[in-house]
Amino acid sequence: MGVLLHFFTYKKNILHVEDVPISELAEIYGTPIYIYSYKTLIRHYKAYDDSFKYHPHLICFALKANTNRALLTVFAKEGAGADVVSGGELYRALMAGISPKKIVYAGVGKTAVEIEYAIRQGILMFNVESEQELAEIDRIAGICNMKAPIALRVNPDIDPMTHPYISTGLKKNKFGIPYETAIESYKFAASLKNIEIIGIHKHIGSQIVNLAPFMDAFNRLLHLVDMLKEDGISIKYLDIGGGLGIQYLDEIPPHPTELAKEFKPLLQDRDLIIILEPGRTMVGNAGVLITKVLYIKNGYDRDFIIVDAGMNDLARPAMYGAYHHIMPVAKKKNRQEVFADIVGPICESGDFLGKERQIPEVKQGEFVAVMSAGAYGYTMSSNYNSRPRPAEVLVNGSEHFLIRQRETYEDLVKGEMVPEFLKG
Ligand SMILES: *Cc1c(COP(=O)(O)O)cnc(C)c1O
Repeated sequence: MGVLLHFFTYKKNILHVEDVPISELAEIYGTPIYIYSYKTLIRHYKAYDDSFKYHPHLICFALKANTNRALLTVFAKEGAGADVVSGGELYRALMAGISPKKIVYAGVGKTAVEIEYAIRQGILMFNVESEQELAEIDRIAGICNMKAPIALRVNPDIDPMTHPYISTGLKKNKFGIPYETAIESYKFAASLKNIEIIGIHKHIGSQIVNLAPFMDAFNRLLHLVDMLKEDGISIKYLDIGGGLGIQYLDEIPPHPTELAKEFKPLLQDRDLIIILEPGRTMVGNAGVLITKVLYIKNGYDRDFIIVDAGMNDLARPAMYGAYHHIMPVAKKKNRQEVFADIVGPICESGDFLGKERQIPEVKQGEFVAVMSAGAYGYTMSSNYNSRPRPAEVLVNGSEHFLIRQRETYEDLVKGEMVPEFLKG
């Protein structure tokens, strides 16, 4: 069982998305540009859905990986739910046609306005991260004259063995309720009039390439479910979060099928509905960032390939030192390999897409592809250095569709105001 496959391949030495040459899309829509493969999105959703067919389940796509409305609509049509972490994400999920009854809402800092919005929309459940938040949800549900369905997000104190910035289930992390006091917190929840306990939740981190931490955390949760039962608290939804890794370089992450297989004996004879919250695995390898070479500069010990995409377009390399494979869109004959940094136009030394790479020589005006950029790409982009954000395109077979316009200079200043006293 290999890694999740995608539909980005070379045909006649030109990188294609499904049946469309990327060079053509770069010419039509300009660069930098995010391009997604519809078939890859479907394949990844189905990989999860089919793997868990043996048990009642719900796949809640984690919006923070990619919020484009067209992509959300793809998943909505397949029957997916959503994992949201803000009122804005809830708004987007609903707008894309995802049923509120399939939406779970996590995050340590939900505001009163966000909580009321979610209660009134009738979401499946809040994944609650503190007792004070429980009290706040109870208070607001009371005002709405409604009951708020909840799960507690438990911090199982398990090391997911991934980058420290994307670990979330360790004692030192801000997420969830400590494992040791989870039962007490559930009892507190049970004492609240407007709270309805329906689930338990965990999410231990991202880009996890080992099954062991997943299984440890899963077993700890099942143990809690059993202990809660003794206290008369019954759990219907077991939400195991997201976090499976994808292949960026040479990682071999577990396939959803393997996860499903490991869970199977543990779920047998249990009346639990399992919820998964995959983000990265659903969209990561379904998107690329295409950028144009502006200049080549020979440095002291390396070349600098200066491209028109920067850390504002794709923050992961600058933020986590993350690796993204970078390759020429057109493979040319008789090109030597060069040793180079692929860098953006931003005035920061941290602004790079790839460091110390051995890549085939590329020339001014040619396009390069930054692979596996579909997750935490556009959603983490910014306007830093007053750079309009890129366009996004969805490819289905031989057809392509603009799914987000490139921002304009007017977009950059939208909403800014100059006080009266400075005018004239
Ligand atoms: C980020 C996040 C996810 C998705 O994580 P991936 O690693 O992208 O699968 C799922 N659930 C919660 C609560 C999250 O914060």
